[in-house]
This record gives sequence, structure tokens and C-alpha cells, in this order.
Amino acid sequence: MPELEKEREVERPQRSKLREKIRQDKEKVGSFEKPKVECPECGSRSLVQDYERAELVCNECGLVVDSEFIDQGPEWRAFDHDQRMKRSRVGAPMTYTIHDKGLSTMIDWRNRDSYGKSISSKSRAQLYRLRKWQRRIRVSNATERNLAFALSELDRMASALGLSRNVRETAAVVYRKAVDMNLIRGRSIEGVAASALYAACRQCSVPRTLDEIAEVSRVSRKEIGRTYRFISRELGLKLMPTSPIDYIPRFCSGLNLKGEVQSKGVEILRQAAEKELTSGRGPTGVAAAAIYISSILCGDRRTQREVAEVAGVTEVTIRNRYKELAEQLDIEIIL
Ligand SMILES: [Zn+2]
Repeated sequence: MPELEKEREVERPQRSKLREKIRQDKEKVGSFEKPKVECPECGSRSLVQDYERAELVCNECGLVVDSEFIDQGPEWRAFDHDQRMKRSRVGAPMTYTIHDKGLSTMIDWRNRDSYGKSISSKSRAQLYRLRKWQRRIRVSNATERNLAFALSELDRMASALGLSRNVRETAAVVYRKAVDMNLIRGRSIEGVAASALYAACRQCSVPRTLDEIAEVSRVSRKEIGRTYRFISRELGLKLMPTSPIDYIPRFCSGLNLKGEVQSKGVEILRQAAEKELTSGRGPTGVAAAAIYISSILCGDRRTQREVAEVAGVTEVTIRNRYKELAEQLDIEIIL
């Protein structure tokens, strides 16, 4: 997705600096030890290298620190599913999005033994019963049942919002952390799951508004906001204020605007940031105003109402912000 790429672009300099540091540290401690780097979000030194997905992930807050790691995957190649199944010697990678991290035993659904020979009908019945019981004991107690439910809820919402794999993993880590710290008590599982997803979106620089999360969640926007503030405080998630630029690609595509309008909008926001016109104001409102202005400048005009609807802000907010931007940046708008 090119929009996602663009959003990631912003973080590049920081990433390459970090990668350089990892390289230097590696040389210092010898290549067999883990690199000693800190998570830029929470300062934790407990970073996990997820080679399967080429990511460096923070164990504390779930931030994906680096996503272009050297691939340490299998040395063999496979060109179709059959080949892959035949050649792989291990199961699926560990994941935070399954309650037991995907590490428990799965009895294969195929009625074949390890040589690929068909299993006799007598053993087949036995295998069927084994499978059934394995499924039942996999989620054994109430805590695990709740976790399994929460993670399936996260997955459902993430799918509805079209969020990528690393956002899902990050959300799962945040949720598990909240469980470990006993923060679920007295709160709904759905509410905590939704706010974990909201936090994960911000950490991964693909922010969604509370309204967007609320739309796919089973709880209200108000509850998500309240729960989010609580867990982010308790877990010490130091989330950087969201940049209005992060919202531009999504809002523009929601309004069916061309790339030209999008880049003009980003340019306006960069200038606005230089003059400190964006700090202390709601990022969605500022982004909406910038899009409103750039749509007019590019001759592909959208009304304040249309922009307001996509951005989830009021028309009054857009009016105030766009006047401010136009005035301070000397942009002449002919209505
Ligand atoms: Zn962290």
C-alpha cells in the first residue's frame, strides 16, 4: 500500500539511526550476543527479534522498533503450498495474536501419517476423538477463555479496519500487558481490547480516530477513550502526539481526492508545523483543514461538510483551523 509506505517514510531517519546503533553495539559485544538497544517509546531494553517477520519488537510496549531486519528464515525455497508443507521442519511462527501464542499442539487435519500414507479407518476414529479433545483442552481455564475472546475481538476489529499484521501484534501485546497488570478488572474486555487497538494504531503511526475504532467496536467511543487514558497511564505508554500528516492519505482517499491534493495538504502541514501552528490542536481537525485548503488550491474542491464527515470533526473546527492556516501561511483562498 503506497500510503502506508509514505507514512512510514517519516520515521526513516530515526530508524536508520537506530539500525546504525544496533550495528555498532553488535560489533562491541560480539555477534553472538543480543544487541543492547532501548525502545524509543518506553526505554525498555527487552527487545525481541522476530525473524519471521523481519521485525525488532519491544517486549514491554509492543512497539515495532525496526522492520527491515535480515531475513533469517528457512534456507530452502518453496514455490507452492505442497512444497512448503513438505520442506518445513517446524510449525507456524509464534504470535501474540493467539491466546497460547500458537505454541500448543495442533493435530493435523489430514488423515495421513508422517510418511504421507493414508491412515486406517479404525485409527481414523481415534484421531478424530483426539482432535476433538485437543481443541477442547487448548483453551483450558477462564483466564485463557477471556484472553482468547479478547484476541479474537482484536482480530475482528483489525480486519474491519484493514489494519496490518504488525498493528495486530502490537495491539495483542498491549492487551496482554494490561491483563498482566490486572487492569481488566472492573472493565469490559471489549473496551480494553478496543483501546489496546487504538494505542497500537498510534504506536505504529497509522492512527485511527476514536470514532473509527468505536464504529467497529461493541462499546461506545466514550468508554474507549476513558479506558485508553487509563491503560496508557498505567502501562506508561508514552505515545507521541499524533501528527496530522498521518491522517492525510486516509482522509484524502476517503474523499476520493487525487495524489496532487494529498501532497499539497502534506506541504501545508509541514509549513504549519514549522510555524508551530499544529501543536496543541486536535490533529484530525488540522489535517481536515489542510485538506480543505489544498482541495480548493488544486481545483478539486470539497465542501467543509464533506471533509468534516470523513475526518470525524465538526464544520466549525474546520472553519476555525482553515482560517488560521490560511492567514498565518499567507494562502489566498478564493471561495
Ligand atoms: Zn517499548
